[in-house]
Amino acid sequence: MSASIISGTEISKTILSEISKEVETIKASHGKVPGLVTLLVGNSPASRSYVTLKIKTALKLGFHEVQDEQPDDISEDALLALIEKYNQDDAINGILVQLPLPKHIDEDKVLNAIDPDKDVDGFHPINAGRLLIGGNAIKFPPCTPAGIQELIVRSGVETKGAEVVVVGRSNIVGKPIANLMLQKGPGANSTVTIVHTGTKNLDTHCRRADILIVAAGVPDLVKPEWIKPGACVIDVGVNRVGERISPKTGRTNAILKGDVDFEKASEIAGSITPVPGGVGPMTITMLMKNTLKSLKYKLGLL
Ligand code: NAD
Repeated sequence: MSASIISGTEISKTILSEISKEVETIKASHGKVPGLVTLLVGNSPASRSYVTLKIKTALKLGFHEVQDEQPDDISEDALLALIEKYNQDDAINGILVQLPLPKHIDEDKVLNAIDPDKDVDGFHPINAGRLLIGGNAIKFPPCTPAGIQELIVRSGVETKGAEVVVVGRSNIVGKPIANLMLQKGPGANSTVTIVHTGTKNLDTHCRRADILIVAAGVPDLVKPEWIKPGACVIDVGVNRVGERISPKTGRTNAILKGDVDFEKASEIAGSITPVPGGVGPMTITMLMKNTLKSLKYKLGLL
């Protein structure tokens, strides 16, 4: 194996420790801590485990954390009223609605009701627009793309003038990471191509990439021979390809695989993210960073 491993687990730890120090400093100077509400509707085990991780991380960092759990049959109006309550709550800087929501609720309507200045997930159309405008207009970049950019920058990969190829055009990964990487400024300034299901000759585009970001949700979509020798490969894909029983706990765990064949790609790439342990841990970390940023905007520190 020749590629260096970009560990999201390690980089996350570093960023969380930076956030923790900043929380302490702001608490001492302004008497305030970031406030995050996590809204969980219903009882899906997957959603609950994601929210639990977010709550634990926020509490560890010394945030004010409000855990709001609502039943599956909450009406859309009642949920919108709750969002409005948190929009008005001075102690709350970030509102996180765990998705998916039950079918009778219009997800877009709920996400669009969040005050864009508390939209720490970065999904509100105003924040999507801010991202497109770029520069100082960007307030809350969506968490997974922001995490990808941090991984690239903190592992010392040159982005200026680099050919970045993004596989996937979703609103939560593909489009926003493409927008971040084409910004004029440090950690970006790249030449960006987005490829998708309508693209001809996917392999030709991938072979050009100095930085290849793959977010398709298709296991082993990117073949090792499509990777330019020495390229930085960021594998966003999380695909459940089976199950195994943990010998330690006896629990059944999912076997996860990315969109890139990690073992073979590692022999060609210069650096690569593993799955799990690459992009995954960065998403929650960037949610915390956005919540801290929201408080800093409010206090006039940004
Ligand atoms: P999505 O299904 O919304 O979008 C996938 C995109 O990939 C689409 O735009 C589609 O055009 C493109 N695509 C799919 N198959 C393709 C093919 N054969 N050739 C070319 N393009 C193809 O998915 P998403 O929400 O963007 O997520 C993508 C993957 O990233 C999933 O595996 C998801 O689980 C994972 N993900 C991980 C994190 C994390 O925190 N690690 C966060 C978000 C998404």
